[in-house]
Amino acid sequence: MDKHLRSVVEKRVARTAEALTRNNMEVHCLESRKDVIPALTSLLRQGEVVAHGGSMTLAQCSVPEWLKTVPVTYLDRDMPGLSPADRQEMMRRALLSDTYLTSVNAILEEGALYLVDGNGNRAAAMLYGPRRVIVVAGVNKIVSSLSEAVDRVRTIACPANVARLERPTWCRKQGHCIAFDHPDGGKIAGCGRESICNDFVLLRNQTIPGRIQILLVMEDLGY
Ligand code: SF4
Repeated sequence: MDKHLRSVVEKRVARTAEALTRNNMEVHCLESRKDVIPALTSLLRQGEVVAHGGSMTLAQCSVPEWLKTVPVTYLDRDMPGLSPADRQEMMRRALLSDTYLTSVNAILEEGALYLVDGNGNRAAAMLYGPRRVIVVAGVNKIVSSLSEAVDRVRTIACPANVARLERPTWCRKQGHCIAFDHPDGGKIAGCGRESICNDFVLLRNQTIPGRIQILLVMEDLGY
């Protein structure tokens, strides 16, 4: 990152981290994706039950592969040979894990996390259940307002994810969301069963200090 741009991003990160901390979340600032696994190594406890939601960020940091090699009980929902029913059961068990790993769609400078989910499993785990949630996110996820967070999902996160998942949604065709909000002013149908935008969660102040921990990485990660 160019040093002038970096000086701006650093101030933004500092502002955001301070606000998240005020809201009882714990923030660890990391320089690059290479620092994520060392940070998790010091945070995870031997033998604990660990699960994660679907996340490009975690994949880019090689977290799922690494979890197979460490002494934790890893609830691997992508384990080869799992039947759809077994996978569902694994995702249900994840809701009572000791540590749940995930990313989010946006981090608001005011100290909040924003997440849009298709199945609701990530949203549920973030809200209640796992003893601890560790969020891994790049600085590209920081936004200045809730409306920017909503916009980010409709113009970046969701269109990129449906392209990855090959879902026939409006945003896949158009490159941005037009469901419910047609440019002509009329209403069009949503994306039905293909939609990955079904549950919208905004997490602000936390009642259990430190339950949510955020590894905020000084590079772009995920969508
Ligand atoms: S509602 Fe449909 S078109 Fe809009 S972002 Fe979600 S999947 Fe894409």
